[in-house]
Amino acid sequence: MTPIKTQNSKQLGNLFIVAAPSGAGKSSLISALIQRANEGHLFNPAQLSVSHTTRTPREGEEDGQHYHFVSKSSFEELIEADAFYEYAEVFGNYYGTSKSAIADKLIQGVDVFLDIDWQGARQVKAVNPEVISVFVMPPSEAELNARLVSRGKDAESVINDRMQQAKSEMQHYNEFDYVIVNDNFARATEEMMTIVKAASLLCGKQEIRFSELFASLVD
Ligand code: GDP
Ligand code: ADP
Ligand code: 5GP
Repeated sequence: MTPIKTQNSKQLGNLFIVAAPSGAGKSSLISALIQRANEGHLFNPAQLSVSHTTRTPREGEEDGQHYHFVSKSSFEELIEADAFYEYAEVFGNYYGTSKSAIADKLIQGVDVFLDIDWQGARQVKAVNPEVISVFVMPPSEAELNARLVSRGKDAESVINDRMQQAKSEMQHYNEFDYVIVNDNFARATEEMMTIVKAASLLCGKQEIRFSELFASLVD
């Protein structure tokens, strides 16, 4: 029988991509998931991969925590140095995931979450077919707009631009393994946890977790 998702790597941690139109709730869902994981409700601890970006920080955003905020020239130097797993230009700024942000954590058994756009998702899937990808949809266009406004972190012109971009981002939902409609936040968080739990139970992961047991039983 063919497994649902082939897992050849010897890493206990899983790599997840979460993509969505801006305002659909992916950052909120990822942070709720990480909190539940770190409270011990899931198999592995979880962390967000902190991206590099050339956009300016929003109020309350801290360098090294939400993003590594860098200049355009520094970002281009990192591209030259082949430091990125993937990068893309989104809303006129560069965003990228550095290689160092991921590999060690997966080996340590940490589930790593990438909050990246569909272009980045394609690049990551091409180099790592084991990645598990999730797309978050808003319950309606009106609600998406309302959330962008209520978040209160972006100027009106930026919000209008993001609403336009949302349409093109959402065209790509069917390139992802799983789709969550983020209407009720608690339910969407439970759905996210279900995906993460199922990924931890994949044969290749359980073989790592229970190597001695399986060797003794199958022997
Ligand atoms: P948000 O849409 O409100 O979460 O706003 P952000 O400014 O945090 O993110 C803007 C866009 O950039 C989103 O589509 C993200 O998924 C994307 N993004 C963030 N980090 C990365 C990254 O490392 N790589 C790629 N490819 N996209 C990213
Ligand atoms: P994204 O990271 O996709 O841009 P955020 O997680 O920042 O989105 O969410 C956008 C706004 O919508 C935030 O103010 C957040 O608190 C709110 N939000 C997220 N999910 C829900 C939900 N299910 N119901 C109502 N508001 C939500
Ligand atoms: P924001 O400016 O609102 O923080 O992010 C804008 C968009 O960029 C979001 O859709 C976010 O997912 C995406 N993004 C953030 N970091 C990265 C990244 O490292 N790589 C790519 N490709 N996209 C990113």
